[in-house]
Amino acid sequence: MKSILTALALLLTTLPAWGWNAAGHRLVAAIAWRQMSPIAQHRVTDLLQIHPDYRKWTAKAGDNPGYTAFLEASTWPDDIRKDRRFHDEGREAPTPPFPGMADTARHKDWHYVDQFSNKVRDGELDHQLERLTRLLRNPGTPPAERAYALPWLIHLLADIHQPLHVGSRDDGGGNRFEIENPFNRRLPFTNLHTWWDDLPGPPWLRGPRLERAADALLASQPKPPRQGSLALWEKESRELSRETAYPAATGSLLPAITADFAARSQAVANQRLATAGYRLGRLLEGTFGQVSRETE
Ligand SMILES: [Zn+2]
Repeated sequence: MKSILTALALLLTTLPAWGWNAAGHRLVAAIAWRQMSPIAQHRVTDLLQIHPDYRKWTAKAGDNPGYTAFLEASTWPDDIRKDRRFHDEGREAPTPPFPGMADTARHKDWHYVDQFSNKVRDGELDHQLERLTRLLRNPGTPPAERAYALPWLIHLLADIHQPLHVGSRDDGGGNRFEIENPFNRRLPFTNLHTWWDDLPGPPWLRGPRLERAADALLASQPKPPRQGSLALWEKESRELSRETAYPAATGSLLPAITADFAARSQAVANQRLATAGYRLGRLLEGTFGQVSRETE
């Protein structure tokens, strides 16, 4: 019994950081798409078309497969966690490359960058985001590599705006910070990271409801944020993770979510999602829009 409990405790404490849930990633992508010119949308679609999973993304698409592919590509780096064609590097035997996909690692450490005690760093999020942006901007990068890099870029730019993906404590970005959530009867105990990841809404959010939610986020933040740079996005998230992301109230056993904390965190999450959407749109416009190509 004891060993089962120990194993269970270990499992609970090593659950990986996933980043915004699927709703969060699709919302950021939906907002980004609205910021892009038709030419940038067209070029992005051309690139996604050569991705091996394009057909899967667009299987149920209506009259705008390019947009659907863009939304679905935003969750691809999470989707491959359950995909047997991919492997956990360092823990599993490598899975073989397949047509259009030279890299079959899941790269779970690309989704976050924690830093605490001013020294200890864990995770690759900032380095990879910088590398992928450079790779996409370089016109000499082979198309298959660009098609691989694009879903990662769409995804990671959203993740770096999730405060707990830029953790500031020795608790795995809140994955090891257990909380009580009296507002969720089915899941009254969870960890803070998971709670934040789910703030964007139900993970199955798609179609007209997703469009309305994206419109509402934009309406709540009509003024585009300063574009800044990777260093600024990381700094903003780290400050939020340090100053406002943790509940101060105590429940019966653990730190507890209060109505006030939930409302404040939801406002922060909404602001971060809209900000990420604006910034992703601008970044892709700069990479794929008319001006960038004319000056190449
Ligand atoms: Zn992620």
